[in-house]
Amino acid sequence: MGLYLRPTTLEVALDALHARALTIVAGGTDFYPARVGQPLTDDVLDIQGIAGLRGIQERAIDFRIGATTTWTDILDSALPPLFDGLKLAAREVGGAQIQNAGTICGNICNASPAADGVPALLALDASVELCSAAGVEIVPLAEFVLGNRRIRRLPHQLVTAVIVPKPAGRAAGHFMKLGARRYLVISIVMAAATIEVDRSGGIAEARVAVGACSPVARRLPALEADLRGTKVDGRIGRVVDAAHLGVLAPIDDVRGSAEYRVDAALVVVRRLLDELGSLL
Ligand SMILES: Cc1cc2nc3c(=O)[nH]c(=O)nc-3n(C[C@H](O)[C@H](O)[C@H](O)COP(=O)(O)OP(=O)(O)OC[C@H]3O[C@@H](n4cnc5c(N)ncnc54)[C@H](O)[C@@H]3O)c2cc1C
Repeated sequence: MGLYLRPTTLEVALDALHARALTIVAGGTDFYPARVGQPLTDDVLDIQGIAGLRGIQERAIDFRIGATTTWTDILDSALPPLFDGLKLAAREVGGAQIQNAGTICGNICNASPAADGVPALLALDASVELCSAAGVEIVPLAEFVLGNRRIRRLPHQLVTAVIVPKPAGRAAGHFMKLGARRYLVISIVMAAATIEVDRSGGIAEARVAVGACSPVARRLPALEADLRGTKVDGRIGRVVDAAHLGVLAPIDDVRGSAEYRVDAALVVVRRLLDELGSLL
């Protein structure tokens, strides 16, 4: 077994990352299953003991979700309807044991195309906070996840939080996942949306993201543009047409063919928006 470090302060963790190559471990629910049957040779930086990295803080213009905040912490937090989509995604990440151990930052850093947290956070316009001994960098999530298992993180940087901006007006989020069965399943398609409503009940801002249909979950900018200005109701899903999904590039795999994924994504996005529209 390699080195196992479990610092209690961020400063010690960042100094350790600066000094040598270390594999970061949070909840370990992606890290350990990827190494089943193999000796653990990595030099590990376990970040779970670091004070102040866990929990959600509401600040003047945003919410800051610390790196060791688990899916269960998100479910147990009193958060505005903006976060309803993220909470629904949290409920869909494995079972209760996985939700108790797994972190939201671990989910985005693992960068699986099927990571349920990524579309939910893209729909929240989230950014990633990276810290190193040299300072802090804030990177939009869309620029942070580069591809399948690829993220924009330098070896000496630690992801310390995800940051969600506060919307200008009334807003709510939603999330929907399609798998081969109802629970405990890897997504075939998942979609998330946030809608901000103006005073007259029109859509001021819409963000819609689809996961598991491209190497990285993608926002649907053409759909978002067509939704803007539409009166919000339980039938806004009718705005969606196949051309809006043109940015997706699904693959065939054991869970579904590329063709099926595109058809399913169309249905999921329409239903997601209808349900969200009826809630607002
Ligand atoms: C049975 C089972 C079911 C699952 N079901 C789902 C599911 O339905 N949907 C889903 O999306 N996922 C699922 N997962 C995957 C996993 O639980 C989640 O991705 C979880 O959020 C990972 O968080 P973690 O803290 O355990 O990450 P870890 O395993 O600790 O880390 C994951 C990766 O991120 C890196 N990392 C972690 N934290 C940081 C940080 N702060 N800074 C830099 N790098 C970091 C690690 O180096 C590692 O590469 C499942 C896993 C299991 C075992």
